[in-house]
Amino acid sequence: MDFVNEFEKELCQLSPEQGWVLQVLGQHRSALLTTLVDTMERARTGFVAETLEGLRQRGLAECSDGIWRLSWKGTGVANWREQKVWIDLLPAGMRLPEPRPGENGSDLGPDCDSFRAALFAPGRCWCGRGRTEHRTVPGEHGRGAESEIEGGSLADG
Ligand SMILES: [Zn+2]
Repeated sequence: MDFVNEFEKELCQLSPEQGWVLQVLGQHRSALLTTLVDTMERARTGFVAETLEGLRQRGLAECSDGIWRLSWKGTGVANWREQKVWIDLLPAGMRLPEPRPGENGSDLGPDCDSFRAALFAPGRCWCGRGRTEHRTVPGEHGRGAESEIEGGSLADG
């Protein structure tokens, strides 16, 4: 089959290794080098098929026609896992922003009036919206961890 899109041209020039790393990075969206290395080393040992089946049984992953993807809940778990990476980087006394029921951090959630930074998706709330899309934006009194983090105080460290 002939494809004409520009991504195909790029893909054809990638080695199998480069394609695999590209995909793993895409699934993580952003990841520490150690996380990617860990993921790929485990994939080579047959760890993946077994693990995917376990995830499917827990309702976190789905498989259709040989294509695996995260379920809505699995996406939430994956996002939360990334969110937790930030625990050690939070200013003292700050709480890690958490999802509410109906939110997985990637899909649009129920109406939301409280911006809770999804640190795995800069500028977004757990409800899937940007800060300005919220009905009320916390004022000076309401500034929490998300404001500090988004303000860049952690970006330089
Ligand atoms: Zn929100």
